[in-house]
Amino acid sequence: MSWLTELARPEIRTLKAYEHALWEPGLIRLHANELPWRSRSDTSQAGLNRYPEPHPHQLTAALAGFYGVESSRLLATRGSDEAIDLLIRSYCRAGVDAVIVCPPTFGMYAVAARVQGAGVIEVPLRREAGFACDFEAIRARCSEQVKLVFLCSPNNPTGNRFEREAIVALAQDLQGRALVVVDEAYVEFAAAPSLTAQLEALPGLVLLRTLSKAYGLAGARCGALIAHADVVALLRKVIQPYAVTQLTIEAVFRALEPGALAEARAHAATILAERARLAAALSAHRAVRRVWPSEANFLLVEFDDALRALQATHAAGVLVRDLRAALRPCEALRISIGSPQQNDRLLASLA
Ligand code: PMP
Repeated sequence: MSWLTELARPEIRTLKAYEHALWEPGLIRLHANELPWRSRSDTSQAGLNRYPEPHPHQLTAALAGFYGVESSRLLATRGSDEAIDLLIRSYCRAGVDAVIVCPPTFGMYAVAARVQGAGVIEVPLRREAGFACDFEAIRARCSEQVKLVFLCSPNNPTGNRFEREAIVALAQDLQGRALVVVDEAYVEFAAAPSLTAQLEALPGLVLLRTLSKAYGLAGARCGALIAHADVVALLRKVIQPYAVTQLTIEAVFRALEPGALAEARAHAATILAERARLAAALSAHRAVRRVWPSEANFLLVEFDDALRALQATHAAGVLVRDLRAALRPCEALRISIGSPQQNDRLLASLA
């Protein structure tokens, strides 16, 4: 048994996965208690009266090809949110084990850990160093109880990306002790590629990708966990059968067609251009104290009075994220990059 399996909760190591009904769409299906007719509201290709593939092999193969990894290294999930939850449920014993998170960061790592009863050890980003990750402090706090280290790069909500060499060195140092999970939800908007190329050399590296951001499928809920095949095999026992719905599977296949991918690339290019335009315009604004550099599809912006800015945008029908509590004492808001027209509306609301 590899250390990747041994690190998991004992109950999960020995768990026998649920045995689902055979999936043979070509045969007459009188074995899964489905209805033989489609609902008239059903616009899917395959028919929603049928269960989807329990573990969607074709979807997995398509996503694996798309991300440039072998199928055995990829688990398709209901968004990266589900991947985060599966990792914590599979690796952390309630009341015993813990995860490391680096605030300010995406809140689901800590929420999922608390739901599981796992400890949450905070190693804050260094604001004075551009929200740099404190890799030395992570090493120092990585006790035997820590099973997972969550790094979000580019980080939500600060927008900065962590140094690739430092992530690799950390994953090397923690081999045999803990998994290093790099959430790459925003990597399509970053100046450096995914860490996929490092997977081979670093069995303890786990990457999270999503179709919710650059590919415009947030409503479909589809993400991918990419890791060593042993980690994927373990989590595949824990994920629910039929987790990814038929509607989502079909939406993802359409999104991976060449025309749709070309459009997604064009949209990402527009987001980058708009990010630069918005950053410049906001930096010149007299109520803005600071616009943090971003490699994601949002900007972290500090105002003299964030509440006033928030009220002004809301009055103009524009929602932005209030981060005053998360970044106290910073008067910070997170502004997603919209279409050129939406960004004009935002700027006008603050004028
Ligand atoms: N990771 C990060 C860093 C995010 O910001 C988000 C969404 N805000 C997610 C994961 C969740 O993404 P998904 O829609 O794939 O669950």
